[in-house]
This record gives sequence, C-alpha cells and structure tokens, in this order.
Amino acid sequence: MGPAFATGALVPRLSHLSTRLASCSSFVPRHISIYHTRSVRAIGVRFATTMSYQASNHGFDYDLFVIGAGSGGVRAARIAATHGAKVAVAENDALGGTCVNVGCVPKKLFVYGSHYGHDFHDAQAYGWDVPSPKLDWGRLIANKNAEITRLNGIYGRLLEKAGVELKTGTASFVDKNTVEVSGQRYTAERILVAVGGKPFVPDIEGKEHIITSNEAFYLTDLPKRVLVSGGGYIAVEFAGIFHSYGSKVIQAYRSELFMRGFDDDIRHHLANEMRTSGIDVRFKCQVTKVEKVDTGLKATLSTGDVVEVDCVMFATGRVPNISKLNLGAAGVEVGRKGQIIVDEWSKTNVDNIYAVGDVTDRVNLTPVAIHEGHAFADTVYGNNPRNTSYEYIPTAVFSQPSIGTCGLTETQAREKYGKYAVDVYKTQFRPMKHTLTKREGEKTFMKLIVEKETDKIVGCHVADTSSAAEVIQMVGVAMKAGATKKHFDSTMPVHPTSSEELVTLRTAEPQPH
Ligand SMILES: Cc1cc2nc3c(=O)[nH]c(=O)nc-3n(C[C@H](O)[C@H](O)[C@H](O)COP(=O)(O)OP(=O)(O)OC[C@H]3O[C@@H](n4cnc5c(N)ncnc54)[C@H](O)[C@@H]3O)c2cc1C
Repeated sequence: MGPAFATGALVPRLSHLSTRLASCSSFVPRHISIYHTRSVRAIGVRFATTMSYQASNHGFDYDLFVIGAGSGGVRAARIAATHGAKVAVAENDALGGTCVNVGCVPKKLFVYGSHYGHDFHDAQAYGWDVPSPKLDWGRLIANKNAEITRLNGIYGRLLEKAGVELKTGTASFVDKNTVEVSGQRYTAERILVAVGGKPFVPDIEGKEHIITSNEAFYLTDLPKRVLVSGGGYIAVEFAGIFHSYGSKVIQAYRSELFMRGFDDDIRHHLANEMRTSGIDVRFKCQVTKVEKVDTGLKATLSTGDVVEVDCVMFATGRVPNISKLNLGAAGVEVGRKGQIIVDEWSKTNVDNIYAVGDVTDRVNLTPVAIHEGHAFADTVYGNNPRNTSYEYIPTAVFSQPSIGTCGLTETQAREKYGKYAVDVYKTQFRPMKHTLTKREGEKTFMKLIVEKETDKIVGCHVADTSSAAEVIQMVGVAMKAGATKKHFDSTMPVHPTSSEELVTLRTAEPQPH
C-alpha cells in the first residue's frame, strides 16, 4: 500500500479576513473549489530506482514533515519523497500558497487583462476601428478563479504522484519532533517550516474598511476610485492594474520616493511615467484614518487632505506567517520581524528543524523559495549538498511600465567598488509601438552598470512594458556567466526591438562630482 491522501475539504481561503471586508462593498470571499482529496493508489515516485535516501530506524511517523504547501514547501516535499523519504505536508488553505492563489499568478493575469484597457484605444492608430469596449469584471474573476483551481489540482497531483501525504489543517509544534494538525499528532525526524508571509496593515482608525492584495483578487466589482497605500512592488503593480482597468487611482507613500531598494533612476522613471499616465502618485503622504460614508470611503491623509474613494487597499509590507506555529514549543529562534533565522543550509537553531521561503525573509520571491526547498531536499535526502546563491537574482515588477532588474543599483555599485570605479550607461526613449499611438507614460528606460576594472556588468535595470520582464531573465544568465560590457557590445542587436539598446550603449555618463 502506498501513502493515501487525507479526505475532507480544505478550509475556505481568506475566511479569516471576510469580516474586515464588510464595508468594501465589492468583495466576497472566493467560492472554494480546492483540490479534492481522495484515496489514491501508490504511484510512488519515491519507490523509483533513483531513490538515494535510506531512512534510519528513527521510530518517527515520517522522515520529513513539511508545514505549508506553497512554493517552497511543495517543492521540498516532492523532491524529498522522490529521494526516498517518507513525507507529509500540512496545508490550511489552497494548495500552491501565495504565488498561485493570491500572488504572482492572479497578479499577472490581472496585468494582462488591464493592458487591454489601453490596447483597444491604441489599436485605432494601427487602423482598427474598435467599438467602445465594455468590461465584465465578474467574468475576469471567474476565469481567473477557474485557472487557479486548475493549478491547485496540479499541485495536488504533483504531491500525490511523489507519494507525499497531505494533512489538511493548521499545523503547530508540540515539541521539536511533533506537530499537531486538526487534533492529530504526527512525529517526524525532521520538520521543514515553509509557511510564507502575510500582509501587514498598520493599526489605524478604520482599519476594518481596508483591503490588502489578498482581497483585491476577489473584488466583485471594479472600484471606480481606489486609494493604494504603500510603495513596494505590490503597491505599484496594483496601482497600474486598477488604473489601466479604468479606476481613478491615488497612490500614497510615506517617504520621498517609492520602490526602496531599486535603482534610483528606475524609481524616478517609474514615478514620472505613472504620473504621466494619470495616476495620482503622492509621496510623503500616509493614510491616517478611513471612514465609511454613504457614497464610499473617506480617507484622511497625513498631508491634511481628505479623499473619497470606493476602495482603500494597503500594500504596506508583509510579515512572516508564524503566529499559529507555536515555535516556542520547539525552541526555534526568530528575528526582529518574526522571520525564522536559518543558516546557509536553511537550518534553524534547532538541529532537526529547517525553514525555507518567505518565512525566513531572505529574498521573498517564488523562484527563491522553490530553490531553497529543492536545495534543502537534495542536501538532506539526495546526497547532493547544495544551497542557494542570492547573487544576480533577476526579477521583474509588473508595474506599467514594467521593470526588470538584476544585480547592483548604481548606489550599491559605487559603495562596493568605489565612487569612481564604475561606469554607468543609460538611455530613455519612446518605444516603437507608441510612436504611432502617441501613448504617454510608457517610456522605456535602460541602464547598465559596469565595474571599470573588470569590465563586468554588475547591474542592469530596465523599464519597458513589453520587454523588461522577459529580457532581464536572459541578462541574468549573461551576468551569472560573468558577461562584460565588451560581450554586450560585440553581440549583434536584434532589430527592431527595445532590448537591442542594451547592446548599443556606447557613451558612459559623466562620473559624479
Ligand atoms: C500580490 C503578490 C504578488 C507577488 N508577485 C510575485 C511575482 O511576480 N514573482 C515572484 O517571484 N514572487 C511574487 N510574490 C511573492 C511570492 O508569492 C512568495 O515569495 C512565495 O509565494 C513564497 O513562497 P513560500 O513557500 O515561502 O510561501 P507560500 O507560497 O506563501 O506558502 C505558504 C503556505 O503555508 C500555508 N500555511 C501557513 N501557515 C500554516 C500552518 N500553520 N499550517 C499549515 N499551513 C500553513 C499557507 O496557507 C500557504 O499555502 C508575490 C506575492 C504577493 C503577495
């Protein structure tokens, strides 16, 4: 007999948040149709000939118990099982975690959808007469939900095929080798914590009227007027999504410039383009109070302004999702933000307990969580010790224009190599597509940062809606391989594209004073 999946329904996603939304008129919790668990035949990849792990006679129920079936947890569980370990994973919501359900995937679908808001208009410049388009927001949400349900199913089948047992419910530690899920206790030689993060909303008056990205994915209507509070990538992405779907958007951010951690030129460029496209971006401005009024929500800002909107969305950071874990029972140490502290092998201070992904607050991205989970499983169960390199991680922000970035910012590069030890190459232009449409707020910006001594590209930053995310993946490969400016210069441009500019940048900017 092979391992069987537990039966029973998973708890509804976001049910804990529904009370907060009573006043955001257009939110309803998602109709849940999560992966239907059932008894399965042992397909058992873990019985395959590639098995390399021989469990010792430890006497525990499992070799490995994983808490959280998101990006990192599913990968770690699957790979460990494939290496021959007996594995269970606990999940208290939909399979696939943040990325699949309320993160990267639905976000990107919303971004695609929102672009049509411009495309119908822009098509006229290319000869198309388009009748006035009408938005059916409900159809968007239904189609998006159907796609996510399909992905939940894929995640379930991946676990099933690997022979991983799924335990439905919230897991908490009883001691360092025991977890409790839905009243059942399970013991394991090792435990991996992969519970991800959750949105953080500061305590302000009227907090109950505020939504986060979690709820934004389930709005039943497109709000006509939206106030987005926050200055990270989730905030700029949602400001762009709502704006391009047709909402009137204000984005408020407490400091002088948003997108902290990104290259300053990119931050300024994005702010300019968002403003030019019609988003009311306000810096040094915080939401201090939200009240429900007959006609919507009244938000008071730190500048003294009061604005009326239909939806207030906070994207004011995320925190590790540790509150229900009872980490103290296992003696696991956490840092100031609640992040689980781990070494380069993702091991905590407790010898048999590991943690990967957002709960460790290293680099909070899906591919990183997956890599950390995979590396953990290969190291511990696959006789292949390896860990995650955090250097030159290419990443994209699906703002409008979108951003692709890899390596150091100019400030970081000058700090690392010396004030005058780097050359900077920049360009800004209207992308060819918009020469006919004359659309404003979509200018392309590109920047290369080169360490003078080695001629190596140490930073690349691109803003370009049609290409930034795609091009930065390949630039990341080149940078990992140690590409120099000479390599870029000697590469034949692909014409006519935006990205060809990256290999035709000839004149360095003057050095700073
Ligand atoms: C709006 C948004 C957009 C994003 N866009 C991108 C993007 O474009 N690209 C990108 O790379 N990253 C993106 N991210 C980040 C990405 O989603 C995360 O980095 C990634 O999901 C982290 O994976 P994880 O395995 O650490 O946690 P998660 O994927 O969050 O998985 C954690 C799982 O643990 C479960 N869980 C929590 N506590 C318990 C418990 N006690 N018992 C049982 N189960 C529990 C949760 O329900 C969840 O399923 C985005 C995030 C958000 C919020």
